[in-house]
Amino acid sequence: MAASGDSVEKQAAFETAASIIRVAERIAVLTGAGVSAESGLPTFRGAGGLWEGQRVEDVATPFAFRRNPEFVWRFYNARRTNLRTVRPNAGHFALAALEESRPAGAFTLITQNVDGLHRAAGNRRILELHGNLGRVRCTGCARIEDRRDEALDDLPRCERCGAVLRPDVVWFHEPLPEDSWAEAEAATSACQCFLVVGTSAIVYPAAGLISSAQCNGAAVIEVNLEPTEASRLADVGLYGPSGKILPRLVEMLRST
Ligand SMILES: [Zn+2]
Repeated sequence: MAASGDSVEKQAAFETAASIIRVAERIAVLTGAGVSAESGLPTFRGAGGLWEGQRVEDVATPFAFRRNPEFVWRFYNARRTNLRTVRPNAGHFALAALEESRPAGAFTLITQNVDGLHRAAGNRRILELHGNLGRVRCTGCARIEDRRDEALDDLPRCERCGAVLRPDVVWFHEPLPEDSWAEAEAATSACQCFLVVGTSAIVYPAAGLISSAQCNGAAVIEVNLEPTEASRLADVGLYGPSGKILPRLVEMLRST
């Protein structure tokens, strides 16, 4: 019988997902903003939309930064202040438990999030495709530093060369970091289970990774609030908050 009022179909989907994960030698996970939404971080609505009341093109492009770096920094400093108070949620911790339960190197977490919450939850092998909000990068000497716990000026400068610093995140119109992307592609094509969590996966790079996993024979499991464009690519879909779905999935894996 289905547990806790679930439909038979929903229970069956959980069992299918668990059996895919159980037999997979390698797992790759792709996460997006949906995972962090339950930690209180607003999901960003995408190109052309608003992000915390600002137009994306005013705060998240290299052109915006060139035009008005103080404005962009004020926006990011507000996001950074917010980061110091947010904590990983049950979904993040479930993914950390999943990695912990697998042999070293058999689990790769690819994330589009810049909040660092996967690391805070305990995941170790993480590829941050869009950078990290806690870090800064010098526009002069390219030095990267972790300044997560500090309040920064509206126009912070490099202590070494004096050039303006920028958030070490990937903006619109910028390429993804080559090394992380190459590793993400390698992990995706080597896995037998590709788990998509909290991302609608209609845009690059998410969509490309899902197809690539499929072409290489991996089973795709989708965990999203509701069905998305990615659903037609998924072998199994589990719909609801990832902070509830993932702990339940990990619990099923533990109990068998
Ligand atoms: Zn510098």
